[in-house]
Amino acid sequence: MNRLSRRDKIETASNSASLYSGGITIKSPQELMAMRRAGAVVGEVLTLLKRSVEPGMTTKELDTIAYKEIIRHGAKPTFKGYRGFPASICASINEEIVHGIPSKRVLKEGDIIKVDVGATLDGFIGDAAVSMAVGQTSPEATALMDATRLSLEEGIKAARPGNRVGDIGAAVQQFGEARGYGVVREFVGHGVGRFLHEDPQVPNYGQPGLGPLLRPGMCIAIEPMFNMGDWRTRILDDQWTVVTADGQLSAHFEHSIAITEDGPEILTGHT
Ligand code: MG
Repeated sequence: MNRLSRRDKIETASNSASLYSGGITIKSPQELMAMRRAGAVVGEVLTLLKRSVEPGMTTKELDTIAYKEIIRHGAKPTFKGYRGFPASICASINEEIVHGIPSKRVLKEGDIIKVDVGATLDGFIGDAAVSMAVGQTSPEATALMDATRLSLEEGIKAARPGNRVGDIGAAVQQFGEARGYGVVREFVGHGVGRFLHEDPQVPNYGQPGLGPLLRPGMCIAIEPMFNMGDWRTRILDDQWTVVTADGQLSAHFEHSIAITEDGPEILTGHT
């Protein structure tokens, strides 16, 4: 869930309770504690989904598992109703990159499934995603997922005070392109807080030293999407599901992180 809309920007701008740096909210220590709690819910949901996924189940069943776990923690599913999105998670299979709608589609041995989870707790949001193999998948698909996950780690390492948003994108892009993957450009990471999509946009490409300055108290979602083939995408007739233009596999990983004096802190950790 990472298209930045005009409406989001207006909502963000009207949120006068928070401090700003160049249009980017700076969370107070209390707000950071709330971000950690919301992120922890997302992490627990992802942990549960990773343990639940198996051949023969539907993506709707995964959505129900996630919904119940979010509610059990006293949180709300951030995506449900977001610009009309009908479910609690995004579930995207194989050539689907992001924003897939959970359905009665049955997962098959060898598929790769990407789940994206958002939870709102006490007014603050956590947002994260993982890619998973359904049963055993091909070595090529495994390598694609591993590279995407590792590129997220590289992006997170670059998210420290004094660096700029371009340092994150450059780290992700270089990691992916060096391994021959198409790095998706049309969908980007984002600031996160009281709103799902805040400033800044956090592209998975960029130039070191360019873009907004990263400061302690900023919270962002970094979310690399790597394609086996070309980076180009298209959107299906359901107006949500983003797929690779060439029909090849794609992988997606995402964490919400806080930038602290000591460096990046992952808010949505899972096991
Ligand atoms: Mg996101």
